[in-house]
Parts: sequence; structure tokens; C-alpha cells
Amino acid sequence: MIRTYCPRLDLQKFFPALEKKKAVLLHPRRAHVGDVRASKMAGSIAWPQEERWPQCPEHNTDMITVLQLRREDIGSVVRFPDGNDLLQLLWCPRLEHEDNGYSPIARTFWRDSATLGALRSEMGGVNVELDEGCVPAECALHVEEVEEFPSSMALDVRTSAAVDEVIKTHGQEDIAAVDADEVNYYDSLFGAAPQSKAGGHAAWMQDEDTVECEQCGERMEHLLTVASEENNESFGRWAAIEEGVGEDGEDGLDDDDEGEGHTGVMLGDVGSYYVMVCRRCAQWPIATRLQSC
Ligand SMILES: [Zn+2]
Ligand SMILES: [Zn+2]
Repeated sequence: MIRTYCPRLDLQKFFPALEKKKAVLLHPRRAHVGDVRASKMAGSIAWPQEERWPQCPEHNTDMITVLQLRREDIGSVVRFPDGNDLLQLLWCPRLEHEDNGYSPIARTFWRDSATLGALRSEMGGVNVELDEGCVPAECALHVEEVEEFPSSMALDVRTSAAVDEVIKTHGQEDIAAVDADEVNYYDSLFGAAPQSKAGGHAAWMQDEDTVECEQCGERMEHLLTVASEENNESFGRWAAIEEGVGEDGEDGLDDDDEGEGHTGVMLGDVGSYYVMVCRRCAQWPIATRLQSC
């Protein structure tokens, strides 16, 4: 089981307007997952034999599997369309999509796993041209439900300063517990989790991006993050406790895995990929963003 630290300080008591949200951290770790219907990163998924494998609209080549998530694993936080219990995310594993901010073009598929019929045994995207960092390794997920506040990027300057004062005054126990980064106590202890997750707030790396739906113009909600790093000393409370952090301050992985991270995903300069969704419009359209350090 992979778990993160839960702060003792009740920040919302001091800042009732700060929006606390639930999120599910995915904690992907390399492993072969035999069950094609299981939640996983990459690997073989439940894809109907009758259905064409999705193609990149720009390259006309196969997309590849990034995530498959079952409602029983993330449904306490992420709302599914009625009757559906499976969410799949596929993308074109290349950055060179100019109209998509030089990031992979993705598609989401919401499904009812009871009505899939016969399943494909071979996944698509086997010999497709790719960028190395856009291809996740097969991983099992170790989901953890957490509560998080918006990224500091989404706070105004005055609130940021006030929050830091409260944490310094009342949160010394938490600061010590996670060896919080004194440059930003808030993000180290309360701001949005930076690793791969479902639901919650987007942990913006550069600026807050209020993504609006192209169809209805309303603000979209954060659905998924695919991160380049899953565990790091700099994560503060979001570092995995049980795994610990390596003595060199890296991510606690064996040397063999160092540099590749847990998942093999490396988007731009340790970037994160955000999938936003609009649940007001039919088919729940998505928009994606990539931000790097
Ligand atoms: Zn493409
Ligand atoms: Zn919309």
C-alpha cells in the first residue's frame, strides 16, 4: 500500500473560502497486470473487438493506452456517466502536435464493462512512431483518496502570504513531519498533489489555466493528470511514506529505474499533462494542457 502524509492543521478553519476537493492519487508502479479489465497504466485494456482502434487525427496513426480506470477505484471522487464503470485514456505518443500545444492528442472513452462483448487480444499502436517520454510503461495502480486545496498558482498574492503565516504559526508539526520546503509551505502541505491522479485540482506548474469548453464556454473541470514524476522529496506531504525517499534525495527507486521515473513518462521538462472535462456537454468533451518546470 502506498500512502501519503495527512496534515494535522485544519487550514480550512482559517480560510473557509479555500476550496478543498477530493482526489484519487493513482501511484502507478511498474508491474504486469494480467486482468484486461483492471485499473492500470498502459498494458492491455478492455477494448471491444468490433471497435476500431483510435487514431491520431493529425498523424493518422494508432493512439496508445495511457490509463484505464474502473469506477470502483476512482468513482468515490470522479463522476462517471450513468451506467458506465470504465474510463480509458489513449493518446498519440508524440509531442509534435502544434495545435495541441506540442503535447499528445488524447481521447477519453467512458464505457459499461458489461456490454463490451468480445475483447481485442492485441492492442493497437505497436509499431507507431513515437517520442520516448510519451510512452508509459505498464504499471499497477495503488489508488489513495486524499483531500487537497488549489495549487498556489491559483491563489492571489494576499491569500498566499496569509496562508503561509498561518502554516508557520500553527503548522510546525506538519512542517517538521514532511520537511516542508520553506519557499512554499502551502504547496508542500496543502496545495494540489503533483503526481498522476484523478479528480481534485490541477497542480499547475507555471500559471493557473482556466480551461473553457469549446462547445459551451463554461469552465472545465480537472479530470486526470499524467505526471512525469510520481514520488520525489520535493513533493512534501505528497511523497509516498512507505516507499521512502532515496538518500540522494531522488525518488527512492532502484538504480535501474533511475532517470526513467516510475512510469517512463517524461513530458518536456518534467512536465504534467492535464485532462479537463466538460460534463455539461454531450459526450463529455475534453481539453488537454501540458505544463513543464
Ligand atoms: Zn499524433
Ligand atoms: Zn461544455
